[in-house]
Amino acid sequence: MFHTIVIANRGEIACRVMQTARRLGIRCVAVFSDADAGAKHVAMADAAVRIGGPAPADSYLRGDAIIAAAQETGAQAIHPGYGFLSENPDFVEAVAAAGLTFIGPSADAIRAMGLKDAAKRVMEQAGVPVVPGYHGDNQDPEHLAGAADAIGWPVLIKAVAGGGGKGMRLVERPEDFSAALDSARAEARTAFGNDAVLIEKFIAKPRHIEVQVFGDGTRAVHLFERDCSLQRRHQKVIEEAPAPGMTDEMRAAMGQAAVRAAEAIGYSGAGTVEFIVDASDGLRPDRFWFMEMNTRLQVEHPVTEAITGVDLVEWQLRVAAGESLPARQEELSISGHAFEARIYAEDAAAGFLPATGTLTHLAFPEGARIDSGVRQGDTISPWYDPMIAKITVHGPTRGAALRRLERALRHTDIGGTVTNVAFLAALAAQPDFVRGDVDTGLIERNIAALAPVPVACPATRAIAALAALGLEEGAGVHGGFTLWEPLGWDVSLTHLDEDISARVVVHGPACFDVSLDGAAPLWVERRDGLWWVDGTKSDARVARAGREVTVFRGSGHVFTVADPLERDAGAGAGGNVIAAPMPGLVKAVLAEPGQAVKAGDRLAVLEAMKMEHALEAARDGVVAEVLVAPGAQVESGAPLVRLEDDEG
Ligand code: ADP
Ligand code: ADP
Ligand code: MG
Repeated sequence: MFHTIVIANRGEIACRVMQTARRLGIRCVAVFSDADAGAKHVAMADAAVRIGGPAPADSYLRGDAIIAAAQETGAQAIHPGYGFLSENPDFVEAVAAAGLTFIGPSADAIRAMGLKDAAKRVMEQAGVPVVPGYHGDNQDPEHLAGAADAIGWPVLIKAVAGGGGKGMRLVERPEDFSAALDSARAEARTAFGNDAVLIEKFIAKPRHIEVQVFGDGTRAVHLFERDCSLQRRHQKVIEEAPAPGMTDEMRAAMGQAAVRAAEAIGYSGAGTVEFIVDASDGLRPDRFWFMEMNTRLQVEHPVTEAITGVDLVEWQLRVAAGESLPARQEELSISGHAFEARIYAEDAAAGFLPATGTLTHLAFPEGARIDSGVRQGDTISPWYDPMIAKITVHGPTRGAALRRLERALRHTDIGGTVTNVAFLAALAAQPDFVRGDVDTGLIERNIAALAPVPVACPATRAIAALAALGLEEGAGVHGGFTLWEPLGWDVSLTHLDEDISARVVVHGPACFDVSLDGAAPLWVERRDGLWWVDGTKSDARVARAGREVTVFRGSGHVFTVADPLERDAGAGAGGNVIAAPMPGLVKAVLAEPGQAVKAGDRLAVLEAMKMEHALEAARDGVVAEVLVAPGAQVESGAPLVRLEDDEG
């Protein structure tokens, strides 16, 4: 076994790999960009090497710097994690040329699967069913349109170099084909530098079912399937294993096809063979087709680990170190059912806009596996994907596991940034999903019911008011109440743009009544670490950071405590100041002092989460001051431009 390895990645997957390597007595070297100097994966490692600036191209994509880090620290092997350099055959060759071991498949195997068209040709030859379609070299638009006609509508145009759902277009009617082709090509050119496409039949009621494979370079086994049909814009959201409704016959057929695929390319290490399944008539062994192979460890590998008891990273390390396959096919079996949900800093209600922020509060429930690359106090930066954690649960049956998932999500407390946790919890309770009736369109069809931010109920508001006054553990220092003259306070809160005024009256060390906006008071008690509101028990948790109070009750409800003084000052300046709506980089300032502007004029451009946001004047006026320079990194709420006081 290796004595030292470098983990060429960051975040949860770097931490995940280290956990197993550590257990096997391997010394772990982290690499990090300037944005990650204080990150969890760096803190966890035995040694860490800085490899460059925050942009991936300056750090985690720099194979040379990572290989140098391995040589400097006496490492023998490099684990690539997923994403970044994990499927880059040139990197694999450079690692070998430096006398190091790449913990993963050969460069040739990665190349064979790198482009979707070539991969489909290889799979056809190996007798693996592929999605009907055209994956030839003729890229002439008329030829492609003809191919689409022959396949039958609707069709899917896919970039051959595609990944992450990019460069993909669904076309329902012949008259839309040409425009869709142009836009798929343009996207593929920008994202992958390769605008070649293939045409596929669009499968009706599609389910995404993938098979985990593991090879030693000659032979391969499979570790059963995962169903990843719950997707949004072709990105997986919740994954499970095994697939609901799977039959022994279909599982055997898919497993054999996946093993054939892996053995056809001499696959070594962990890989995933992705199939698309036509579920319009249940699961049938003649209705699955190869889509692509991901030649790496997958984000959702924990569900497979949960049902098989295998540590896939341990297998990766052992096989890369020259051991033979740790198990034969007949030694592998499925136990129970598992789900994984991906928790992101993103605003589901705002079209899943990625978010940043400092995690002022981070608490996960017992009884679930948590894979996370961040700790409380860490920051979700705009540089990388905004994943906070993956939460994996296991249960004896699908129903039991799914109830555990929902419960775990409802006890996942994250403060300081907007997250998709409430969306995931709503999804875990969605009736079709609960029944196992899934397909890749389920989320989109139900988005209106799943995405809204839950509005806090009166009991939650009352708890927020108490927390805002620092009374969440009882009256404490305010305990000098007198029974004949209860103490009272007023507090103003904002919740989802709604102003709430609460009056709290203390009746005992942990008894209050709280009236909201003049309504009849609620009787609130704090006992044994629980809340009782008008006699109803709640295990609501509370977190406070600055003026933000979050009450975690089913999901996180965020309240801002109004400071009456600040509110007055704000009212004077409010209309005058153009502030950053989110943390980001000032790309351009388009205004200068003294300039007259009209409402709607662009005053500055902010880049955040790889998108540009134009900041506009809210009214006509004259620029008094420009408060930032292009190139500045600003926090949310930072003033950028100030207008002169309005005459009126
Ligand atoms: P696939 O390529 O089949 O989608 P994965 O689900 O393993 O495979 O994801 C691949 C990469 O895409 C990972 O690096 C992961 O971090 C990233 N990714 C997946 N889902 C999201 C998402 N919702 N937002 C941002 N990045 C994502
Ligand atoms: P990527 O490399 O972006 O992961 P995939 O080829 O794996 O691309 O496809 C991503 C997703 O798009 C699948 O998980 C599935 O939801 C959908 N999809 C792909 N091919 C088809 C198809 N032929 N019919 C219906 N849906 C498809
Ligand atoms: Mg895919």
